[in-house]
Amino acid sequence: MTCPCCSGKAYEECCQPFHKGDKSAPTAEALMRSRFSAFAIPNADYLWETTLPSKRKFHDKAELQEWGEINTWTKLEIVRTSVLNQVEFKAYYTDQDAKSQIHHEFSYFQLIKGRWYYVSGDFFEN
Ligand SMILES: [Zn+2]
Repeated sequence: MTCPCCSGKAYEECCQPFHKGDKSAPTAEALMRSRFSAFAIPNADYLWETTLPSKRKFHDKAELQEWGEINTWTKLEIVRTSVLNQVEFKAYYTDQDAKSQIHHEFSYFQLIKGRWYYVSGDFFEN
């Protein structure tokens, strides 16, 4: 299958090695893409593991899984990667009422011992 992150590559050659733990995402943008794919699949374990450990208390793994499942994730658009650890993106999805939605976020990432983690995000109203 084509990778859900819209890279145009096969899933096996894109986000799957990150999800399986064979490789870790080399950049903040790659981690962002793999996290979008993890919502689409969904794979809440991966979302949990790639969240900064000190921030995990603000998230619930079961809720992440449910959020991935109830929505259909249609497209990821990287708006900009301004500096190394920040990514602005738009995640397009169809919600459980079949309404098209856009999740527009400016995310912060942190590199610890060679691994990228999601720290937090600022959300834009659309
Ligand atoms: Zn991908």
